This record gives sequence, C-alpha cells and structure tokens, in this order.
Amino acid sequence: MAMLNEERKEELITLTQRMIQIKSYSGEEKAVTEEMRRFCEKHSFTDVTTDRYGNCICRIKGSRPGKKLLFDGHMDTVPVPDPSKWSHDPFGAEIADGKMYGRGTSDMKGALSAMLAAAAYYAEDLKGDFPGEICVAGICHEECFEGVASREVSRLVKPDYVVIGEASQLNMKIGQRGRAEIVVETFGVPAHSASPEKGVNAVYKMCGVIEAIRRLTPPCHEVLGKGILELVDVKSSPYPGASVVPDYCRATYDRRLLTGETKESVLALIKALLDEMMEKDPQLKASVSYSSGRETCWTGETIEAERFFPGWLYDKEEEWVKDIYREMKAIGLDPSITNYDFCTNGSHYAGEAGIKTIGVGPSLETLAHTIDEYIELDQLMKVVESYYGVMRAILK
Ligand SMILES: [Zn+2]
Repeated sequence: MAMLNEERKEELITLTQRMIQIKSYSGEEKAVTEEMRRFCEKHSFTDVTTDRYGNCICRIKGSRPGKKLLFDGHMDTVPVPDPSKWSHDPFGAEIADGKMYGRGTSDMKGALSAMLAAAAYYAEDLKGDFPGEICVAGICHEECFEGVASREVSRLVKPDYVVIGEASQLNMKIGQRGRAEIVVETFGVPAHSASPEKGVNAVYKMCGVIEAIRRLTPPCHEVLGKGILELVDVKSSPYPGASVVPDYCRATYDRRLLTGETKESVLALIKALLDEMMEKDPQLKASVSYSSGRETCWTGETIEAERFFPGWLYDKEEEWVKDIYREMKAIGLDPSITNYDFCTNGSHYAGEAGIKTIGVGPSLETLAHTIDEYIELDQLMKVVESYYGVMRAILK
C-alpha cells in the first residue's frame, strides 16, 4: 500500500489550504465545487457533476461491479462574525506548530479534502483495478439543514455505504441523536394596555404553556442518551409592544431525537398537553408544529424543509462495522466505536434512507464553529489512512 508519500502530503495540504481560503457560507459554495473539480481533473476521477442544489459529486468507477461507497463532506461553513477576535486570518489557512488555522478546517474542509485525496490515491495505487465505485460528494447547505441537500445526492448516487467526515478524532461513529425544531404558538386578543381586561394576553398564556411543557419528560435511550426538550427562544407580537396587549406569542424548542421517534410521535406528547390545557382554559388557544426553513442555493434553486432530522444507530456487532474496524486495525489505527453528540448529514442517509452509514473524520468535534478553529496536520494525514481502511473493507 503506497498511501501518503511526501508529494501527496504536500498536495493534500495545498488542497485544504485552497479550500479554506475560499469563503463558503451556506448557499455560497460555488467556488469550492470548482476547487474540487480542479483536483479531480488532475487525478483519475471518472466524472464530476453538480446537481440542482449545487452539491458536487465526484466519482471514480472501479474496473468491476461492486458496492458503491459515498464519502459525504459539507462545503459550507458557519460565518465568522468578528475576524478581529482571531489570532490567525480565518481565511488565511496559516500553518503554525503543526496546525492549520481557519474557518472550516475542522468543520469540515479538512475532511472533505482528505476524502478527495484518499479516493484519488486509492484508485491510483490499485491502477483502477478494484470492484465498485467511490464517490466523494461536497454537500451544500448543511449548517442549517442537516441531510436535506444530501437527499438529492443519495437519490442520484444510490450508495450502499456512506462515510460522514465530521470530526471524530479518527474514531468510528455509528449513530447520533437527531434534532427537531418545535414551535409552540399562543393566540390572544389585542387590547389597549390601559384596559388589559378587554384582551387576552398571549404572553401570559404562553407562560403557563412553557411551565407545563417543562414538566414533560422526553424519552431517553440507553446508548444515545436524553431526548432533551429545551426552550431556545420566545417572541411576541407586536414587537416592540407599545401600549398594546400582545395577541401572539411564539416559543421555539430544540428537541434531540432518539431512534424510533417519528414526526407524529414527537409532537403527540405536546399536542396532548395543549389539548388538555385548552379544555380547562377556554381562553387559551395554542398550537404546536415544526419550524421550517427556506434558503437559496448558489445555483438559484430554493432548498426548503421542515426541521425534523431523525436519529440513527447501528450495532457494533454488525458485520460491516466489524469489517471496517478490522481493516483500520490492520493499517495500525486504533479507533473506538461511539456516537456523535451532534446532528450530521447521517440523519438523512441512515435515519431517513436506511443506508449503512459511519462517521470518520479528523480533528476534535469541539473545534467546530470556534474562534481560531484549526486542524492538526497529523489528523489530516491520518484520516486518509482511515479512509483507506474503509475502502479496503467495503470495496472487495
Ligand atoms: Zn459540520
């Protein structure tokens, strides 16, 4: 196995730096797709396409039929609100003390670059003689819509296996909690605040609802942990409210989803509570639903979805998980097998589509979205070996 010589190491570092130097907030990923294409054209990729949302799909077909393995890495990053707080230029990709600094180094252009490099070098080392197909997809709009743009990639590629490259410190992640954004609304009657008895104050009504929801116990999973139902914001209308009793109030909850939970089952608990409260209080009018988002892609296409991204979990004892683990050990890596603490595109692949999915990425997950985000070059290099391990396990 040839893997990473000095020339390849240098090429991977340069690719990652160029990716970091491109600012690519959600919906602005076009230049990243061009960078990916440039790399693929230098190597033995079969084809590179972009879909309607602007995801970039890079494929290498093997010489024989076999499994399709998809590497998924998102191209968008969260913004940099205040560059002056950084000790390195967030778009400079400066290297110091074995670390590359910049927005997206850990989350997750380092992983995406390593995926491209691993795919190219693997195919080259085997002179294209392997079964199946390797596909590296750069995904857009992940930061607010986990798994939504991925739906299009999975429809086009139809992978048998997926690798999510979110930071895992080279460990294997076989599950995650999902998440939902739940909106509770109360509807009152407006009145002048000099005679509030003539109206129904939607905020007072909401206070009762919030207290009652707080007494609910969301479910718990022995591996994934707590379901969580946390209030994250409250808004009333009109706002600001000058001399008026507000007739509308909206509260948003972050709910972490466990396996087996459905769109219906998650809302049912809150719905039942509201129904009971409305029966006791004829003045209370309340409803519950999922929030939805709508954004524009760099292609001009609109992406929209209800914010319900399911959780997923595989068993450590499944044959394909053990196969990957064995190959990693054979290469000299020592991954542990655990779960992600946050939500990823795996919500779609594993949670919605039932495709065998594993998370393997470089770096610490706690570095995502931080000031002075960085990736250790050692992690960037090592994850290429991890990806070799996955390819050796699946493409046989
Ligand atoms: Zn990420």
